[in-house]
Amino acid sequence: MSSGKVCASVSAETCAEAVEKIGLAARSADIIEIRFDHLRPDELPLMLGYLRSHTIIKPIIATYRAPEQGGRGPVSAAERRGFWKMLGDCVESVDLEEDVFDTPGKWETRILSYHNFSFVDGDPNAIFNRLNARRPDIIKYAYLADDIIDTLPVWNLLQKAERVSQPVVAIAMGEAGKITRILGPPHGSRWTYGSVGEATAPGQISADDLTNLYRIREIDRETRVYGVIGDPVSQSLSPHIHNAAFANAGVNSVFLPLLVKDIGQFIDRMVRPDTREVDLNFGGFAVTMPHKLSIIDHLDEIDETAKAIGAVNTVLIDGGRLHGYNTDAEGFVRPLSTRYGPLKGARAAIYGAGGAARACVFSLKKEGAIVTVFARDPSKAEKLATEFGVNFDTMDTESAGAYDIVINATPIGMNAASDTGPLAPDLLEHAKLVYDLVTSSVPTPLIQAAENAGLETITGVEMLVAQAVRQFEIWTGETAPAAIMMKAAEMSRLSYDG
Ligand code: NAP
Repeated sequence: MSSGKVCASVSAETCAEAVEKIGLAARSADIIEIRFDHLRPDELPLMLGYLRSHTIIKPIIATYRAPEQGGRGPVSAAERRGFWKMLGDCVESVDLEEDVFDTPGKWETRILSYHNFSFVDGDPNAIFNRLNARRPDIIKYAYLADDIIDTLPVWNLLQKAERVSQPVVAIAMGEAGKITRILGPPHGSRWTYGSVGEATAPGQISADDLTNLYRIREIDRETRVYGVIGDPVSQSLSPHIHNAAFANAGVNSVFLPLLVKDIGQFIDRMVRPDTREVDLNFGGFAVTMPHKLSIIDHLDEIDETAKAIGAVNTVLIDGGRLHGYNTDAEGFVRPLSTRYGPLKGARAAIYGAGGAARACVFSLKKEGAIVTVFARDPSKAEKLATEFGVNFDTMDTESAGAYDIVINATPIGMNAASDTGPLAPDLLEHAKLVYDLVTSSVPTPLIQAAENAGLETITGVEMLVAQAVRQFEIWTGETAPAAIMMKAAEMSRLSYDG
């Protein structure tokens, strides 16, 4: 079991708001940090008065940051020293930056903090040595990461801190650093910060998600780590789907969003057993844009389906070898066959000629459907159709409407509510079923138009879950809890779409 703790960071402008958030934080966090620098100056005495007259059931850390260290307002070192004097002993732990670390005070724990809001620079080792020389109870080291590779100094620092028995909290901030906020504790970080409401640092995860989505207290060094690798990954539903499945199956695994820019460096320096600089116990990946093609060069083998489609969306790490699969094809066709019935002879129109369209064309052709590809750039439609031996056409021909199944494999409909989709509604009247691969803003305008026309519809969320079911099977060798995964996708989609 991980000894990692969640420290909920409370940011509020007023004492009343802070008190409310402290109450919320106390439910899921082990420690509560109060960001005094976020309070209005006139609210500071009220807050201190509250702390003096109330017992809070969780340990409190007081933080009053300088602006260049992530603090909210313009405040001088002298003013900060004044604050620490005023604070007195109404909390047991304080978080101090280097310039005020020697401020007198009788606190049980002094945390010495270092923040760098530009991407990691200088020598993290030298910074650690400098901080360590001040003999703090705990060192906090945080910097901004741009790519997952930038988190390597965190893992190195945690190893070094363990060797010299110096308690430390090390974090890479930003989307790319989220992995350090989740796997930091089992690798030696004393705690991880979670937000209550507004995040107090880039990439900060809510205390609720740390507890319920990532099950942070159950993660240890034996936990098998999976994740979606891509750029961007912040809106991915996959962490919700796979973590729900892992929790339901009772397996010691976690699924993370992994912001990867340089796929080659990531595989070499963080994944491959013979070359990696840190062992995070990766078990496999879901692969999304822009790496579905480029990852192939970094794998040991890929299966026949992935080879035929020319794209990998799933990686299994087994015995130190990296195996590539494509579950989009099966994820696409499973709900379609269930809803439409046998696809042999069905006339299918696909709009789009990108990676997802390739998986659709592959599986439709395999099932015996008669496929026609459309794209805004007709030459791309032609290229894809020629490669797979299917038809292509332009949208302005009359034949464009005569299809049983109409598929949108473009991002159209993702954001614009007014967007009517790639196919004009009157073209849908010939169709029996409309399938829109888009996973956000569901029901998309195309799905709505199809529903209004009384047609059968399939959303991108159904495909996403169906391909995730296959991923789960590849990674665990067990039957996936499909209904649980669908429920998790729906719940998280609603929270993203607002
Ligand atoms: P991709 O490789 O980038 O291909 C996108 C395709 O859409 C290209 O043909 C592109 O044309 C076309 N396109 C983009 N914007 C367009 C516009 N405004 N008007 C007309 N055509 C446009 O992306 P992908 O991986 O195939 O993904 C396509 C969609 O499927 C995305 O929405 C993605 O989220 C979704 N998807 C869903 C699942 C799922 O499980 N539900 C799985 C994979 C993908 P150009 O080449 O001319 O740019």
